[in-house]
Amino acid sequence: MAEPIGAPRVLLRALHDIMATKESAQARLNKIVSQIASNMVAEVSSIYLRRPDGSLVLYATEGLHRSAVHYTRMKRGEGLVGLIADEAIPLALPDASLHPSFSLHPETGEDPFHAFLGVPILRNGHMLGVLTLQNMTRRRYSEEEVEAMQTVAMVLAEFFASDDMSDLVEQRSQSVSTGPDRIVGVALFPKVALGQVILHEPRVTVTRLIADEPFMEMTALEEALDSLRIGIDEMLSRGDVARAGEHRDVLETYRMFAHDQVWVNKLHDGIASGLTVEAAVERNQNEMRAQMMRSSDPFFRERLHDLDDLSNRLLRILAGLAVTSVGEELKENSILVARTMGPADLLDYDRDHLVGLVLEDAGVSAHVTIIARALGLATVGGVTGIVNKVQAGEMIGVDGFSGKVHIRPPKKVVALYSDKIIHQKKQLAYYEGLRDKPAITLDGEEVALGMNAGLEIDLPHLDDSGATSIGLYRTELHFMISEHLPRLNELTKSYANVLKTAGERPVVFRTLDIGGDKILPYLRHAHEENPALGWRAIRFALDRPAIFRTQIRALLQASGGNNLNILLPMIADIWEIEQARELINREVDHHQKFKREMPAKIRVGTMIEVPALIWQLEPLLKRVDFISIGTNDLMQFLFAVDRANMNVAHRFDTLSLPFLNALAGIEKVARAQGVEVNICGEMTSRPLEAMALVGLGFRSFSMAPMAIGPVKAMLLGLDANDIRHYINQLLCDNVLNIRTALVRFASERKLDISGI
Ligand code: PEP
Ligand code: MG
Repeated sequence: MAEPIGAPRVLLRALHDIMATKESAQARLNKIVSQIASNMVAEVSSIYLRRPDGSLVLYATEGLHRSAVHYTRMKRGEGLVGLIADEAIPLALPDASLHPSFSLHPETGEDPFHAFLGVPILRNGHMLGVLTLQNMTRRRYSEEEVEAMQTVAMVLAEFFASDDMSDLVEQRSQSVSTGPDRIVGVALFPKVALGQVILHEPRVTVTRLIADEPFMEMTALEEALDSLRIGIDEMLSRGDVARAGEHRDVLETYRMFAHDQVWVNKLHDGIASGLTVEAAVERNQNEMRAQMMRSSDPFFRERLHDLDDLSNRLLRILAGLAVTSVGEELKENSILVARTMGPADLLDYDRDHLVGLVLEDAGVSAHVTIIARALGLATVGGVTGIVNKVQAGEMIGVDGFSGKVHIRPPKKVVALYSDKIIHQKKQLAYYEGLRDKPAITLDGEEVALGMNAGLEIDLPHLDDSGATSIGLYRTELHFMISEHLPRLNELTKSYANVLKTAGERPVVFRTLDIGGDKILPYLRHAHEENPALGWRAIRFALDRPAIFRTQIRALLQASGGNNLNILLPMIADIWEIEQARELINREVDHHQKFKREMPAKIRVGTMIEVPALIWQLEPLLKRVDFISIGTNDLMQFLFAVDRANMNVAHRFDTLSLPFLNALAGIEKVARAQGVEVNICGEMTSRPLEAMALVGLGFRSFSMAPMAIGPVKAMLLGLDANDIRHYINQLLCDNVLNIRTALVRFASERKLDISGI
């Protein structure tokens, strides 16, 4: 007697037994369709499998003409079967012929059948084929029947993936993406790496599909859901550093979905239809992935993506595994692949073996990116869909210059990567050879090359880059990766360590530059329409002086006996300097009152990032000991381009008339008033740009540590007077394409402007 419809456990067992036999693939397929038809009380059951060109071929049938097997082919999107494959959703109709997509294939002999039920056969979100039922009567298939067929389809999908069915699935498996692939993301750190994938959140392979005891599966699901929810709540509530910025958003969405009844009901349905809890999670995941791949609505895709991540977490919990790979032993040349991750997680990986990082979500200013840069990892962000396209252990190439990521690269690409890595090593060895040489131009002009830093993990670069100072210490980075507002002692210890490591080399501490894209998760910050123009940096410090004063106190305590250089960020008007000085003086008084050792000298400078300062330079320079030009923000505000918006960030050139004229003007006034001027910001890290800046008269730079070698290599071949004349002429003549002219200048003089 047939198993009651909607409770296909007996059917699943029977299918399992058929699959386990040693018969040919076709013989087993024939038995499978016949078993399905009989159990589901249908006159017809058929399996259509997808070919590489997207068409669907009838591979087995019970009830249609056997002669149509391997003959009947639906073009991509053709008929009801094509529609199901395209949409990746089930379709149940009392009368198939009335549906607008219906197309008749007379050779199958399907004329007499009216009722139709088709479900997609999905694996890892990829469409393998379609499983159908047909009945002569115009009957309506119940939800339970649809559910049961989806469960059967899932079991079939696993069957097709098994080794002994590989002949059958070979052509289709190309769509399961096992071949080479290339995705272009956003280049975040200029290095090239080739190695093997480490999935930050590894996937679990589900091997147990059919449940013996549905009740036990339900209990296991409830327990796993509980620990999933508790885990997410803990992460959100304990103030983990992983909460910062976009990572927090992801966690909050996880929390919402972890309680989503529709999702949980789907998992219940899967178990009720005979699957194990793991298989029920995976079945639901497959359906979501298929919808995700077909949807063009970015919001919908994003939400499905979150649910997909959540399902992975649940599968890991069910398998009794840790949710992430943090702390695992890594093999040499490991490349971490994650959708997103917190900065602390990255720091917990074995740094000796990690060479690259590929992220789906992170952008230039994500906190994890800041850490990745400090660790010198080849980093690419914005690599949509990578997590689902790779398996742990597969080979991957990461090009942090172009933003290209090569998955399972073919031999030719591997060779290219290997060449690049050899070249990279040679270049690094060459720059290392220049490390202890002073940066002096051919005509004897010395240029100070300091480095930018912001975390204690940056400090080793002082020695390995040969930097003569820390020209910009971005103190906010410590605040950004902290779990809570750092306390006075913690700051004092950290700044003292920076000064101790720097020794004779000067350090310029920039006070907290938060706001804009630099958010502190533990501080309440009202939503701002234009955060880059908002309540940030010195504006925030003056309005909430407690944090600023704590920082100054820590700096005074840390630098007793040494020189202390304090740099104020985002100054737009002179009164801000005066107010800041007042706060600094109060802390100095406090320091003296306790008879603590005073710094040998306290120097206060300002960043020049806001164009308004250009027209108040003379009075400003009377009130500061030095200035430092932040070309990143100055460019952002001069050209009105959001530096974090990739659509516009590189639209205008720093080597352009307005920008270079602005810089030249600042340098001229500072020189006339005898005030020390430094220039920091990404522009200084590029040899061609650094060459132009030397031409404009700048002699003190601060840059990314790994740029020091290449910039020094350029300087050693440069005649400062030569470039001064050349660039002045370009500015005088209002030359519009300055970059081209400078490249020509460099190439005529065989200057090395290749960079890293
Ligand atoms: C700048 O704006 O150029 C700068 C160095 O500061 P930050 O990049 O930290 O804003
Ligand atoms: Mg800035």
